Amino acid sequence: MDVLCPEIERLVSCYTCGGQSLPPYQLCVEAHVACPTCTKYQSRCACGCRFLKRSNTTLDWLVSAMKLRCKYRANGVIDVGSLVLGQVDCANGWYTIQELRDHYRTGCMRNLFTCPMQNCGYVARVDTITDHYDTAHGPLPRINPSQHLISSNYVIFQLPAKMQAEIIKKIFNGYFMFSVKPQRRWHKDINSLLSMQNINPSDLFQYRYTATQESHQKMLTVTVSLVETYSSSTRNI
Ligand SMILES: [Zn+2]
Ligand SMILES: [Zn+2]
Ligand SMILES: [Zn+2]
Ligand SMILES: [Zn+2]
Repeated sequence: MDVLCPEIERLVSCYTCGGQSLPPYQLCVEAHVACPTCTKYQSRCACGCRFLKRSNTTLDWLVSAMKLRCKYRANGVIDVGSLVLGQVDCANGWYTIQELRDHYRTGCMRNLFTCPMQNCGYVARVDTITDHYDTAHGPLPRINPSQHLISSNYVIFQLPAKMQAEIIKKIFNGYFMFSVKPQRRWHKDINSLLSMQNINPSDLFQYRYTATQESHQKMLTVTVSLVETYSSSTRNI
């Protein structure tokens, strides 16, 4: 495998979010690779073109004929002496696509992730932790935006302001943990009462959140919007 150019990683990186993407591939009009999550939640490729509906058979076959490296290989690893059967240290390994899929779900020792819910502490993997949220703390209903238009790429919902709560909501591709502190009287600074964290570690999107409260209301109104990669990158230029 030494003959493969390290640039091979770029071939399988999603142009929009930068993450490693495995077949089947969908491309944009300009033939950039797009991962399933980006084609689902982003309205356009980071270059500004729309995504093509069909997958690209040639690229699927090409990548399926190659070996790739683990996307977590640069992460730290727990004590190698404690590896159990079937688990391998992937720092220098090359894997076929199917081996890589299995590796992320069960074999990788560099993608361990601890459930952040209070009193849980369950250790899963970056690639499987959201299954754990649904089975152990769910079912979690998904909050969807009303339409898939850039101008309305946000969701609005309410959280109770009077009680201490730790609430998980599935929004777009993220799993957001909202921690609400109990409120005795109406507060001007809502941000001191509410903290929000995206606890889906494999979600590469960026979000904006705001929380508001009408005077003397028992509920906080929270708005979460997905930052479009295309529109945010053009703004930075
Ligand atoms: Zn992507
Ligand atoms: Zn593109
Ligand atoms: Zn690995
Ligand atoms: Zn948990």
